[in-house]
Amino acid sequence: MRTLSQLTWFFRLHWKRYVWGIFFLFLVDIFMLIPPRLIGQTVDEMRLGTLTASKLSITLLLLVALGLALYGARILWRYLLFGGALMLERTLRERFFQHLTRMAPTFFQRRRSGDLMAIATNDIPAVEMTASHGVLTFVDSLFMTVVTLSTMFALIDWKLTVAALLPMPLMAWATAHYGKLLHDRYFLAQEAFGEMNDHVQQSISGVRVLRSFVQEERDVEAFRQVSEKTLQRNVSVARIDALFDPTINVIIGFSFLIGLGYGAILVFNSQITLGDLVSFHLYLGLLIWPMFAFGWLMNILQRGSASLLRLQETLADQPDVQDAPGATSTVAEGTIEATGLTFTYPGAQSPALRDLSVVVRPGETLGIVGRTGSGKSTLCRVLLHQYPLGEKMLYFSGIPVEQMTVSALREKIAYVPQEHMLFSRTIRENVSFGNPQAGEDRIRWALEQAELTGDVAHFPLGLETLVGERGIMLSGGQKQRISIARALLADKEILIMDDSLSAVDARTEEKILQHLRQERTGKTTIITAHRLSAVQHAQQIIVLDEGRIVERGTHEELMALDGWYAEQYRRQQMEALVSG
Ligand code: ADP
Ligand code: MG
Repeated sequence: MRTLSQLTWFFRLHWKRYVWGIFFLFLVDIFMLIPPRLIGQTVDEMRLGTLTASKLSITLLLLVALGLALYGARILWRYLLFGGALMLERTLRERFFQHLTRMAPTFFQRRRSGDLMAIATNDIPAVEMTASHGVLTFVDSLFMTVVTLSTMFALIDWKLTVAALLPMPLMAWATAHYGKLLHDRYFLAQEAFGEMNDHVQQSISGVRVLRSFVQEERDVEAFRQVSEKTLQRNVSVARIDALFDPTINVIIGFSFLIGLGYGAILVFNSQITLGDLVSFHLYLGLLIWPMFAFGWLMNILQRGSASLLRLQETLADQPDVQDAPGATSTVAEGTIEATGLTFTYPGAQSPALRDLSVVVRPGETLGIVGRTGSGKSTLCRVLLHQYPLGEKMLYFSGIPVEQMTVSALREKIAYVPQEHMLFSRTIRENVSFGNPQAGEDRIRWALEQAELTGDVAHFPLGLETLVGERGIMLSGGQKQRISIARALLADKEILIMDDSLSAVDARTEEKILQHLRQERTGKTTIITAHRLSAVQHAQQIIVLDEGRIVERGTHEELMALDGWYAEQYRRQQMEALVSG
């Protein structure tokens, strides 16, 4: 019942639809009460010999008319109630999706995508089921039971009715007991389903790695295990499901047994007529559905509440970085300043950035270098405020980052992440994602800047070529350059490129860097790189090691320092000579 009450916001929004739907449902229930009575009366008239042809045809006509009315009313309530539930499903799905788009990276680290998919494909429909069949069975079985029982009490015989109802407490116990079991087991089953989804999703996205390491069989075996677990848990749900109906059938059988035995005695003693007994059994028959429905209702509600719980748990997750009250939404152009910036990933043991201080003036280029794992990417993410930060560690134009809205900050920054993300759309859509309003000229320009014009000309459909699974497979360098074109098209004050040229050959890299220098004059650019040639021209270069700045200065200064940078630079020069 809690599940239904948690959905009241929706029922309130669509109350007219639900009121009409329930009205027609009631109409059906009341019409259903008439035929048993008509049949009982006809039996009595037959026994007494008073049945005439005209009386019989009137009864038959009445039955046909009732049948037609039931037909119409049943269509109407189905349309109204089930249609409403589908709208609920859409609303929930939209909310869920919107929520996902607002969440930070840590959210997706905590929640596996397979689980999130399971919520969208399994849990939301289960909630829909609650709002459609749940409402239907709740209203219908309750009303049907009440009106049928009242009719039996009033029109036939109250003692007979009470006697036939004796097995019912057993029914109540069975439904409550099985309902609890169902809820718990269903929750576990859904969990396993999420795990299985996750496995499939990872195997598909990593299929090339799987093949190259010849791990297909191992992966199939691992999948067999998850799928076996899912099967076991679903079977344990089905086992309870399977117990439900037979149990209820046995209990109903007892009711009929009592009804016939005790009813026969009453007819024998002339306390009720034979027609009454026939009507009574037809009414008892009408009670079967609500009894099953109660069981079914428990089942649906248990599933719905388990699913709603999973959905709400996810929806309750707040973004890690939230706008502080009164945060400013306009950030003027200005310096970027980190002072004593120390940052630890949520849940990590040691900081990934330690006591880092750096000032980047507007229009400057900052180069960040250092060995793998030294914190380059982390610094980029921190600059985007993707994670909560300590106070007064990072300033934009003199304003602490915690005092500006996340959107204000991100609107100023174009970011090319190290793990480039391309959508399974056309090249054009992937590039213009950076600025959907950009015209053809601008897009061509961005491609030119990223040295993609030649590549695009060779693609089968040019800019309209699809990327990814159903389209062209791009090389790592091409993907990186598309990401760069996207960021350049966005044309923001600050450009952050995280190792974005690693898969591009040296000649192309040099050309892109040249474009960048020209294009980004007067705008702030932050480049992390493994190949030092990518940052050589920067006004300021910092060398990171274990999250600390260990060397800093211009290229010339760093060479004169003769530290890690100089050594690395000389080695890379040698390598270029050897391979070049
Ligand atoms: P780089 O880009 O210089 O190769 P990173 O910034 O990616 O280095 O990583 C710096 C350190 O932070 C590494 O020790 C890495 O293991 C850790 N790290 C990176 N990303 C995460 C994360 N999402 N959660 C926890 N630790 C992370
Ligand atoms: Mg990195």
